[in-house]
Amino acid sequence: MKQRQPPPSPHAAATRAVALIISLIKRPTAKSERYRRWVDIGWQPIPFKGSSQQPEQRRFLLKLSVHRRAGAEVDAWADTGECGSVSAVFRPCMEVALGITFDPSDLPGCLHSVVAVLHQTVRHEIEHLMDEGFLALPGPSRRPRRGTTDQEQWQRSVRLSHWYGLRRRLFSGGFGTLRKWDRKERAITESARSGKCIDYMVSAREMHAFTMGFQAEAKYRRVTWDVPMLEYTESMVNAERMTQQESDAVRTMLVRWAVAVIPSARISEQTVARYL
Ligand SMILES: [Zn+2]
Repeated sequence: MKQRQPPPSPHAAATRAVALIISLIKRPTAKSERYRRWVDIGWQPIPFKGSSQQPEQRRFLLKLSVHRRAGAEVDAWADTGECGSVSAVFRPCMEVALGITFDPSDLPGCLHSVVAVLHQTVRHEIEHLMDEGFLALPGPSRRPRRGTTDQEQWQRSVRLSHWYGLRRRLFSGGFGTLRKWDRKERAITESARSGKCIDYMVSAREMHAFTMGFQAEAKYRRVTWDVPMLEYTESMVNAERMTQQESDAVRTMLVRWAVAVIPSARISEQTVARYL
């Protein structure tokens, strides 16, 4: 009997993707081109109840763009979505478009910073992959839902619903009814879409991804969870994308979220005293 492989841990998947990106960056022929690479993380979907379909191998496509620029600081950005116009062989799949910038004259000295920022960025995107789309994990409750035709879609949206529930418990602060809280959540999502940095970082879809991304970077750098979190929010203030006051509000929410979802995360005493 063919043994079913367990899904890779998000940590293993991220480490593999980061190693692949670094091997591409180090290649002597790799100048400032745009790479397009399949990263097969061997994702075996967890079976869901109520479907006769065989779980197929699902993948994510990593589209990497490397920007080497004199004087550039190490920086990375990414976005996740369902694959658009790709060969049917690779469907269904999810796509992570990831860009990295650095100054080539800083190599190999800047590699440590490149790997650190990649750990944060890749893990952040993997959290999005686990929340929504073809690779999303079923949430803890996988009971078929009566009256719902697309059982898979419903079961794969449970993880995200779980975050919504946790947000209400942590942040509504006795803030009235479910309807009022929903309205507040919708306003945050709307404002995040229009590009307001504070609302983007604490929105229902982003906050968990940011928290886990900071933890991945912190583990790689062997620092406490709050070090990359404080640096990131400070960089947003320096870039005038949020005020100091907004940054304090974001930090408070992120620290509360980290304590709730990663009990093992190490957080410095100063940060706990100041923001929790
Ligand atoms: Zn994100």
